[in-house]
Amino acid sequence: MPRKTTGSAPPPVPAKATGRKAAPVAPSDQKEAPAKAAKAGAGKETGARTVMPAKANAGAPKATAPKTGASLASPAPATKATAKAVSSTKAASTTKPRKAPASTRSGLAPPKGLKAKAEAAGLAPGAAKPRRRAVANAAAAVHGRTVTPWSDDDIFEAFSRFERLNPEPKGELEYHDPFTLLVAVVLSAQATDVGVNKATRGLFAAAPTPKAMFALGEEGVAQFIRTLGLYRGKAKNVVELSRLLLEKHDGVVPPDREALEALPGVGRKTANVVLNIAFGLPTIAVDTHLFRVANRTGLAPGATPLDVELALEKRIPDRFKLHAHHWLILHGRYICKALRPDCPICPINDLCRWPDKPI
Ligand code: SF4
Repeated sequence: MPRKTTGSAPPPVPAKATGRKAAPVAPSDQKEAPAKAAKAGAGKETGARTVMPAKANAGAPKATAPKTGASLASPAPATKATAKAVSSTKAASTTKPRKAPASTRSGLAPPKGLKAKAEAAGLAPGAAKPRRRAVANAAAAVHGRTVTPWSDDDIFEAFSRFERLNPEPKGELEYHDPFTLLVAVVLSAQATDVGVNKATRGLFAAAPTPKAMFALGEEGVAQFIRTLGLYRGKAKNVVELSRLLLEKHDGVVPPDREALEALPGVGRKTANVVLNIAFGLPTIAVDTHLFRVANRTGLAPGATPLDVELALEKRIPDRFKLHAHHWLILHGRYICKALRPDCPICPINDLCRWPDKPI
């Protein structure tokens, strides 16, 4: 049986693209989630990484220390200290003041230093080495608290463009049926789709059903997935969810959020992915990409993934809901990237309210 895939290929670059090619297809990382979000909405799912754009850093205020070139110092100073003082004074009076970056003017510029930026953006104080991408997503959330959300017309226009560019978005996780999709999504926490697919090809050949997966046991599952992060815990969850499917659902994946979330390793985001892809329900799984895009653009600002999910569900027109999850993930993964968003080729550049986007 041919393998199905979830997610989607990179979205086509719009006609107004400036000759730049979209970034090469990268594996999915829909396991990432902002640190704050992880607290509030990630449930028991693992893999809460967070992300942030280079633009936010680019918008940070830069030191405006005046130049101290010798040409600015008139008669030769008697001492080094005097020379420094003289040249500094001259420089202060002759250096043209810099225009503050947009993010500074709007009061959103993060302070200098990654740790300080992270704390200012609401990440855990004292976090030793926050990821730059986590800081980026947190900055998007800060921006989201100030931005005016899109109008209904803006939303309709944006999704009409996504639909024109990619009418049938497809994914990259390989699966055969709802059970293998569920297992693949559980395994995808803190792993790439490419990595998960490599592991599941052998795993699904050996154990394509809950019964076979349960019989394979933790050690057997672990042997197939040991290339993935947290593989011991994932193997345990996969075997246990297989047992529960057999015990409570006759070995069938239930098309029900509550029942799905009762399975080990399955949180709201995983349940949303399964309900959307396997059962065609208009759910929207908010991963790190959706969270960033919704806040940066003004599409559906929210402090947590759940806030964003509920706002998206409320505001996206029904005709776009089935594919909204994929369109937004792809947009965030390949264009509105955390560290270096490709604003010049972005199909919604004119609608986006990110203050530092290049026009
Ligand atoms: S213009 Fe596009 S790529 Fe740039 S920040 Fe806005 S949505 Fe992201």
